[in-house]
This record gives sequence, C-alpha cells and structure tokens, in this order.
Amino acid sequence: MGKSKEGNDNVELYGIFGNPVGHSLSPLMHNAAFRSLRVDAVYLPFHIEDLEGALRGVRALGIRGVSVTIPFKTSVLACLDEVEESARAIGAVNTIANDGGTLRGYNTDWMGLIRSLGEAGGIRGRTFAILGAGGAARAAVYGILQEGGTPVVLNRTAPKAEALAREFGCAFLPAADAGTMEADVLINTTPVGMWPDVEGTPLPGEALARFRCVMDVVYNPLRTRLLREAAAAGCEAVNGLGMFVHQGAEQIRIWTGREPPVALMRQVVQRQLEEETV
Ligand code: NAP
Repeated sequence: MGKSKEGNDNVELYGIFGNPVGHSLSPLMHNAAFRSLRVDAVYLPFHIEDLEGALRGVRALGIRGVSVTIPFKTSVLACLDEVEESARAIGAVNTIANDGGTLRGYNTDWMGLIRSLGEAGGIRGRTFAILGAGGAARAAVYGILQEGGTPVVLNRTAPKAEALAREFGCAFLPAADAGTMEADVLINTTPVGMWPDVEGTPLPGEALARFRCVMDVVYNPLRTRLLREAAAAGCEAVNGLGMFVHQGAEQIRIWTGREPPVALMRQVVQRQLEEETV
C-alpha cells in the first residue's frame, strides 16, 4: 500500500511486469478503469530483470495485482503459490492476484480472445485456422476448444505445431497449407505485421477470400496489412484490440470483483493507438 495524491494511505498498487514494458498500453487502460470504478489504485509499468526478486517485492510491498507480459508469461508459473487450471493448461500466466501474500496466477488472454471472437460471429461449430504455435496460439486453441470450435494449427516451425496439436488433441497442418485449407476463420497469432515491420503479412492477400473472417491478435497498428487485405478480399476483419481490452477487463474482474468499464477501456486504448499512427 502507498499514499495517493490525495494523501490517502489506502491506495492500492498494481502493475505490469515485462521486459521491455515501456510501450505497454496497460497502465493507460487500467488507470482509466480504476478511476471510472472509483477504486483508489495506481497501476505502473515495471521493467523487470529479476522476476523472483520482483515477486518477493510484490509480497513485501503488498502490490495487489500484476499483469505479466513478454518474456515472463511462462517462467512465472514456477514462482507462484497457486495457478488456476486454464493458465496451467495453456502454460502461461498473464495475471497475478496477491491475496494476503498468496500469489495466484491466471490466464485472461484466452478469455479476451473468445470474447472478441464472440463479438465477431461466435465460435461453436466453426473451424479456425491458427497461424503460430506460441503463447497466443495456445490461448487461442484452449479457448476455441472450450467454446466448441475446431482449431487447426499451422506454424513456421512444424514440430511446434505438431506438439501443440497433440497436447490439446486438435489438428495441425504444414504452414504452406495455409494458402489452400478451408476454415471459417483465420487467426494470426504471430507477431508478423506488428509495428515497426508494418509491411509484413503472414499470408498473401489472394489466399484470404476463402475465410469468412480474419482476425489478427496484433493491435499495433490497428489495421495491419493482413486486415487491410482481408477487408479488400471481402472478409470480416477483426483486430487485436478487442482481445487486448477483454483480457484487461477480466483482470479488473479478478482484482476487484467489479464489472469492468469495457467501453471506456476500449476507447482510451483505441484513441492512443490512433494517435500513434497519425
Ligand atoms: P511467441 O510465444 O513468441 O510465439 C510467436 C509465434 O509466431 C511462434 O509460433 C513463431 O513461430 C511465430 N512467428 C514469429 N515470427 C514469425 C515469422 N516471421 N514468420 C512466421 N511465423 C513467425 O509470441 P506470443 O506470446 O504468442 O505473441 C504473439 C503475438 O501476439 C505478439 O505480437 C503479441 O503482441 C500478440 N498478443 C496479443 C494479445 C492481445 O491481447 N491482442 C495477447 C497476447 C499476445 P516459430 O515457432 O517458428 O518460432
């Protein structure tokens, strides 16, 4: 606990642990959410070199909650007192709640992804081609299976796609098949197309028309080349903003037990991203 600007001794501390963390939009989003909910809290970015030391700091300082980002989402699992089932299955924690010194790990990325897909026509009964086999792909596969969809994994490094598919009991294909396979929705979970390499795209535009919907988990820029080409090919194009906002909204729910102000959270992040790209 610390002292707030208003001199309140009960201000709650939250933060994000990452390396790098300077460009994170989580402080902007979460501080706006706390203000709107009238929770006396401050959320700060922490550039972390020593994760175990930082977690001792969480306990010592009574930091109430932490978002975890690259490169700690997997390594943090071994440092926590409890890990919730979905985070264990995905093998990644992006959220820590400090309950009186007990550190509990959660994964809200998968929830962010399924909420975003839910807004874009739903999951049950649909087939999803997932490009990539890293942390975001694992969250996608887990979430889609939970919601009754069928994921198919395609990755540059084929053995990683195969291992992921075996672990979750779903299908995989060689990355080259992405140009010909049939699926309702394509999801890019690779960083290809992310700022500053904005001309990159994981699949050529002429291969996109077969998908009803194309989603990119990348949200900076908001309109990646993949999404521009998907829209031009007549697909519904879904950016990574919804996933980002909903994973953050679930963190607010975990930390405060309150209903998160999702529309406001979306608005502040979208405005910032639009300003960054002008
Ligand atoms: P990760 O664990 O490092 O996995 C990255 C995956 O992308 C790997 O499978 C990798 O393939 C593949 N990849 C990387 N560069 C590639 C290239 N040039 N060509 C083809 N494949 C390539 O990363 P992650 O944690 O899953 O994150 C991936 C992206 O998701 C990042 O851009 C991150 O910002 C974004 N993300 C967004 C949200 C959101 O809320 N919107 C949440 C989480 C993550 P190999 O296996 O062959 O190396």
